[in-house]
Amino acid sequence: MSEQQQPVLKVAIIGAGPAGIYAADILHKSVTDAAVTIDIFEQLPAPYGLVRYGVAPDHPRIKAIIKALREVLDSGTVRFFGNVCYGQDITLADLREHYHAVIFATGAVKDAALDIPGIDAAYSFGAAAFVSWFDGHPDVPRYWPLDARSVAVIGNGNVALDISRVLIKHVADMLSTEIPDNVREVFAQNPIETLHIFGRKGPLQVKFTPLELRELGEVAGVDMVLDPQDFAQTDEHIENLKNTNKQILVISRIFSKWLAEQAARESAAPRQLVFHFWAKPVAVLKDEQGRVCALKIQRTKPDGSGGVIDTDVFETVPVQALYRAVGYFGSAVAGVPFDSARGVIPNTAGRVQSNTGEIMPGVYATGWIKRGPVGLIGATKSDARETLECLVVDWQRGKLWHHTADAGDPPQITSLLRERGVEYTDIEGWHRLDAAEQELGMKNQRERIKIVPRGQMVQISRAGRS
Ligand SMILES: Cc1cc2nc3c(=O)[nH]c(=O)nc-3n(C[C@H](O)[C@H](O)[C@H](O)COP(=O)(O)OP(=O)(O)OC[C@H]3O[C@@H](n4cnc5c(N)ncnc54)[C@H](O)[C@@H]3O)c2cc1C
Repeated sequence: MSEQQQPVLKVAIIGAGPAGIYAADILHKSVTDAAVTIDIFEQLPAPYGLVRYGVAPDHPRIKAIIKALREVLDSGTVRFFGNVCYGQDITLADLREHYHAVIFATGAVKDAALDIPGIDAAYSFGAAAFVSWFDGHPDVPRYWPLDARSVAVIGNGNVALDISRVLIKHVADMLSTEIPDNVREVFAQNPIETLHIFGRKGPLQVKFTPLELRELGEVAGVDMVLDPQDFAQTDEHIENLKNTNKQILVISRIFSKWLAEQAARESAAPRQLVFHFWAKPVAVLKDEQGRVCALKIQRTKPDGSGGVIDTDVFETVPVQALYRAVGYFGSAVAGVPFDSARGVIPNTAGRVQSNTGEIMPGVYATGWIKRGPVGLIGATKSDARETLECLVVDWQRGKLWHHTADAGDPPQITSLLRERGVEYTDIEGWHRLDAAEQELGMKNQRERIKIVPRGQMVQISRAGRS
């Protein structure tokens, strides 16, 4: 294709989480037969998605990924439009007019449901809501009722570990993080003494990663409490896997170390973290005010092939608050098909499909909204690569949206946003906000303190603009 015959390839990306930003980077590098214009639209005034609003604040090494993402946004090959919500401020019809294609990278921000009686009790929370609060998401209430001495966390994945660690940590160990001030104040009053973490399967069938599990044992002033019986009840199938699966082997060593420490312990720490394996939550019990007062579990046992079967043993564990960390769930986006059972945009290798299976030309998906809310940040890169391979092939075959925009003209999307009164922010605006957060942190001997109210974020980002 010569540049004269072919217009500049113009692509809109919805969502500035890692999936959207990696997609922009890969797109820029993979189109060699034309110039590329890439616009990223993000509903929040700040980029980075769950890396900023999901990853725990005491995990600064993960936050370092932000540096790599920032380099893409700063590279001059991408335009960032913050505070622009697709479906509200811009529509699919608008994008069709201004671009050749759109990539949806809208992620998953809601909690998956856990359908057990009583889950609607007061003080029964979803992990996503709690994470959004302590990570300073601008769209969630700023108050969190942290007054329980005994708390249940349901789930055996890394999000369950994250929220357990944050709930059980003493506030002194959170002081150096970027948590907003009001979050710090609430943590300072946290009266928690015991945190119970429940998993339906056995200790070697957890979805924790070894690094995160080990880290839990390093939290100061907290004992790890295990039931040796849970380890006696082994699944031979899983035991055998220890020989081939390094992750299971390491997890087994961590638990063995904790069991040995527990046996030798002479006095108890102020806070206890109690693991309950082979424990399937079956009901949340409420007190007269409708508040969580206990979790009822049904004991399970191994089925010999990696699964579990129910026993007829039930137990009740008194707690005053409960957090379910049983997964995240994607939300539908306007004008695009949605698989409401899986919480994803239906697609084949990133090409979006209608509900009857036909490919929608020019419409792509990547990241958690493409394949569901599992996997680490790194996985969104390979995801984006697959989606971009399809987009580039479709471009070369002339299968994207066609329009009459002249090659080299920047899309007139900024005029459209202005006409609609959308207070969009740009990359310079994000730099201003970023600098303001760092300055706030410096004044308090911290690297950064997040600015939370959306109005304030927008005001700082748009300072000096007409
Ligand atoms: C609590 C938690 C902790 C985690 N910790 C780690 C960790 O320590 N290490 C690790 O590797 N991974 C971690 N992960 C996983 C990691 O966050 C994900 O793999 C990754 O963020 C998924 O990227 P994404 O871009 O698909 O989605 P997201 O990160 O969710 O980004 C989606 C973006 O799209 C935007 N958006 C949504 N709808 C619209 C719309 N209508 N218009 C405009 N913009 C929109 C959102 O605001 C968001 O910025 C964690 C996940 C969670 C939930």
